[in-house]
Amino acid sequence: MGLDNLNMSVALCHETGALIQAYTLDVPVTATVCHCRDRERNRLLVLPPCGICQERLALWGPRVEAAVPDATAPGGWRAATLAELNPLYWGTSFTEDGDWPTQAAHSA
Ligand SMILES: [Zn+2]
Repeated sequence: MGLDNLNMSVALCHETGALIQAYTLDVPVTATVCHCRDRERNRLLVLPPCGICQERLALWGPRVEAAVPDATAPGGWRAATLAELNPLYWGTSFTEDGDWPTQAAHSA
């Protein structure tokens, strides 16, 4: 569940708590699913990670999988890697070899 607040600038996305818990426990995040109820239309949604959550997930590398909506897939969703979601990830500009920055580089 997301942290909603009257001041929207301090709200947090649904998956933030789980990501922080994984980081605190030093457990790698390998996949993420954001499942949300659209009460106005009485339907369930699979939401891809927002840009900020993609930045948070980048800590665990380009192979982290995220659920994304796909009307052609069974169940209406499929997995996409972070690299697929963000093929021009800015962090690769700061590595010697152009590869995805390591977790150590992210946390430095
Ligand atoms: Zn987010």
